[in-house]
Amino acid sequence: VASSLGALLNEKAVGPVEDCVFCKIIKGELPARVVYEDEDIIAFLDINPAAPGHTLVVPKKHYKNILDAPDEVVSKVFLVAKKIGKAAIEALDAKGVNVITNAEPVAGQIVMHFHVHVIPRFKEDELKF
Ligand code: C5P
Repeated sequence: VASSLGALLNEKAVGPVEDCVFCKIIKGELPARVVYEDEDIIAFLDINPAAPGHTLVVPKKHYKNILDAPDEVVSKVFLVAKKIGKAAIEALDAKGVNVITNAEPVAGQIVMHFHVHVIPRFKEDELKF
């Protein structure tokens, strides 16, 4: 009991966070172009794509970033990112993908709800992400 209580108290997931734009998308309060959804994860097109098909993979529970999320959530998010990367190659004829996540503003994180970017790549260009 002590260890499960400890785990519960250390659980960093919180309910939907007011003013979190991704929580609003998850609750259906903001529109998104959803490309994948299951019980735990949603993936939708980035509104400001770095390349065609740029997709964000987001856990439905709110964690601040990869450093805060439990390992099983991180695993699920990256497995969906892999699926989407393969789909981009198949459906969009991408030649490769970047799969990246930013943690904390100093590393470029703007939306403070854990997400992974899947960015299809079509040619060797100057796009740095
Ligand atoms: O990793 P970072 O926090 O910088 O990325 C946030 C991403 O969320 C940006 O690429 C931005 O275009 C995207 N975004 C979105 N829909 C929103 C708000 C942000 O796709 N409503």
